[in-house]
Formats: sequence, structure tokens, C-alpha cells
Amino acid sequence: MFETTRPPTSAATEAKTAPRYWIKTYGCQMNVHDSEKYAGLLAEMGYVPAASPEDADVVLVNTCSVRERAEDKLFSELGRLRILKEQNAGGSNGAAKEILVGVTGCIAQQRGDEIIERQPAVDFVIGTRAIQTLPEVLADVRRTGDPCVNTQDLVDFEAQGVRTDTVRAFVTIMEGCNNYCSFCIVPATRGLEIYRPASAILDEIRGLGLRGYREVTLLGQNVNSWVDPDSSMEFPELLSAIDESLRRTAREDGQPGVERVRFLTSHPKDLSPRLIEAMASGQRIARHLHLPVQSGSTRVLRDMNRHYTAASYLEQVAALRAAVPGVGLSTDLIVGFPGETDADFEATLELVRQVEYDSFYSFEYSPRPDTAAVTQYDDDVPAETKRTRLIELQRTGQSIQEQRNEAWVGRETTVLVDSLSRRSDEDVSGRTSSNHIVNMAGDAGLIGKLVDVRVTSHAAHSVYGEIIGVPH
Ligand code: SF4
Repeated sequence: MFETTRPPTSAATEAKTAPRYWIKTYGCQMNVHDSEKYAGLLAEMGYVPAASPEDADVVLVNTCSVRERAEDKLFSELGRLRILKEQNAGGSNGAAKEILVGVTGCIAQQRGDEIIERQPAVDFVIGTRAIQTLPEVLADVRRTGDPCVNTQDLVDFEAQGVRTDTVRAFVTIMEGCNNYCSFCIVPATRGLEIYRPASAILDEIRGLGLRGYREVTLLGQNVNSWVDPDSSMEFPELLSAIDESLRRTAREDGQPGVERVRFLTSHPKDLSPRLIEAMASGQRIARHLHLPVQSGSTRVLRDMNRHYTAASYLEQVAALRAAVPGVGLSTDLIVGFPGETDADFEATLELVRQVEYDSFYSFEYSPRPDTAAVTQYDDDVPAETKRTRLIELQRTGQSIQEQRNEAWVGRETTVLVDSLSRRSDEDVSGRTSSNHIVNMAGDAGLIGKLVDVRVTSHAAHSVYGEIIGVPH
């Protein structure tokens, strides 16, 4: 989970007279991409990015409700924005101007009118499936002066976003989730699954290739349950169709186009042998899978309503590694789920030791309102036990991750350079097909290029290498 703010610092150079927007994004990649769509709608309306909320005419807070205290954080943020609104209205920040504050995303969908009742400084609330109503909502608020709430189910996959990354792009292929994992709020906030047609997905990816993007990530809460609404095509066939189309269009367009396709997030119950085969045979399908396991205890998995066992998960991992050598594996883990015993937790540690993940995200269980776990189980694992287990799990996982990184030293690999390094002005950073982060000496001219690299050293979360070939 992470928080991001928009826009890039180049905002200061934009036209001074245009209205400005500021978006604060909480949560997962789906939310990051939704913020790109809001930015696209605002750009169509003539807005430009603001350098700060103080400088904005419209401020959006795009929320996530997955973690505990998300609502408390939101209302603290809204309290700060209320003060800003009052200062702006009174002209104490310079000339008086109106600032409109909107709340979007999962909490907006869940709480709707309650948000405005609790914080009257909010001018509008837009749910997860009504993104494209932003222009009407803004016009309504300006015309009537009244707050507006729209949480209708109006999914529009074709909304064009403003992408801040020039190398990697997100492509939404579905919305919602049908799984009802007992700890998860997503089916309530994002609705049930709805799928984007294959033809539209293929068109968008081709267009991204022509615009110079080298990598796309197909997005969905449960991406591998996608089915084409217009045919019987399922997710493995979609991957193969994308792979085939990228190789064909690279020849026709005379440009390399998109080199790598990733997908997030996959549910183990939908990891079929056909999907493993599509990953194995796809030349442009990244050798990486994020496969959340959540727990290594089959009893806890049953209470989580996950529909697989620890043993079946391990079999899938073995099948994947046999078919896709060198595949990178990452996961999500929860400790302290209701009823988790020491033996259940030990089973999770054992699974982590057996799988040897390349990276992982781990969390303490926290009861989320409106989930089955809250109504069915007592949150009976003491906070101190949750904390101790999380520390032990992270220590185990990180030690494995470091050993796996160490094993990369001396290997040759291909890296897609995507950014300047955060740590050194003289380095750039990129990822292998297996999603390992590789840093190397280089400048901004390498961003967007594939480079062959020999790994020379490792750290806890990344490796360092030297370029051994001509960037392409
Ligand atoms: S698969 Fe489970 S954890 Fe993932 S979004 Fe759906 S309900 Fe939530």
C-alpha cells in the first residue's frame, strides 16, 4: 500500500491562467490508474496540474479502505483541506478563490453521503464505478452550490488517463471481484466482476506501443478470472493473443512496441495449467507472478474463504517453476487472522521457507467494517502476538529474499530501465522480466531502453549490475 500525490514538479511551467487540480492517491495500482483517469478527464476540461493543494482549484482525495484507520486518515486530511478552503475563500492565501474538494475511490463508494454529513467542506463524492461523471458532477456543484454524490454503477473502461510514467502503463481489463474473501472489503467497494472486451484491450496495448511504452500491466482485482464478454475467450487465451499481437505488430509497425506484459493480481484458485502454459510460451509475457497466499494454514485459508489449500498452492508453485524457469514469485501474507494459533502461524512460516519468495507484502489482520470476518469471528489474536508474528515473518521472508538476491551475483540478465535511481544521481534503475530491481550506472538517456547487464553485487531488496551490451 502506498500514497502518491500528483503532479510532477513540472507543473510550475504550465499556463498560469488555466484552472488547476491536485490529486492525492491512496492504495493499490487500481487506484493509481483511476487517478490517471481523473487527471485525463480534468485535462480534457482544460485543467492543468497544480504544484500543491494550496495552488489548486479542484482537490481530489482518491481513497482506499483496505487498511485499518483509512477513514480516520481521510477525515484528518479533509480537516486540513477545510482549513485551506476557508483561508482561500477569505483571501488569506492571496486573492480569494473557491476550491472544490472531492472524495473518490473505495471509501467514497462505501460511505457516500455520510462523508459530506461528517465533513461539510467536501463538495462532491464519486464512487469507484462512476469516474467518468466527474465533469457533470463539477458542473452541478458549481451551478447549484450544493454538494453532489454519485456512486452509480457506470463503469467506463475507455476513459483516457494522463499517464505520468513514460515507460510503463497500466491497462484495466476488469473491475470488481466475486470472491468475498472474508477479510476483504473490495467486493463491497468495487462491486462484482465486470470485464472489458478483448478487442479494446488489444487496441489500447497496440496504441501504447506506438506511443513508445515498453511495458504494460494488466489490472484487475482478480485479473486471472477475466473472461471476454463477447466470446468464450478466457485469461490464458487473452495473454496468448496479446503476445501474438505484440510480435505481429512489431513487424508491421517497424517499432519494438511493448516488450513486456505483466498482470496483477492473480488468485491461486484461478491459476490454471493453461495460464501457466500461456506464461511459459509467451515471448513477451513477463516471467513474474504475484500470487497472494495470505496464510500457510489450510484451516485459516478455509476461514478466509480462499478456496485452496496450502498443499494445492505448493503444487501450483512447483508446476509454475517447472514450466517457467527463473519465474519471479511474490505474495501477500496476513498474520493474526481470527483463530490463528501458533501452529497455524508456524505453517505460514514453513510455506514461506518452502516457496522462497522473491518479495512479499505482509500485514497484521485488522477487522474491516462490512466484511464477513467481522460478523463471523472474534478478532481474538492479541495485538502483541500479531506484532511479534509479523516481525518474525518479515525477518524470515527478508532473509530468504536476500539469499535469492545474492544468488543473482554473476548472472547476466536483461533489464528494462524505467527511472533514475532514487539513491544516486549517477545510477538508473530498472526491472528484469522476473520483476527484480536492478540498479546500474547510467543517465536518463537509458530510460525506456532494454539493457543487458551482469549483476555484480546485491542488497536486501535489489541488485547492482554493469551494462554489458548496446541498449536497445
Ligand atoms: S480476491 Fe479476495 S482479497 Fe482479492 S479483491 Fe477479491 S475478495 Fe479481495
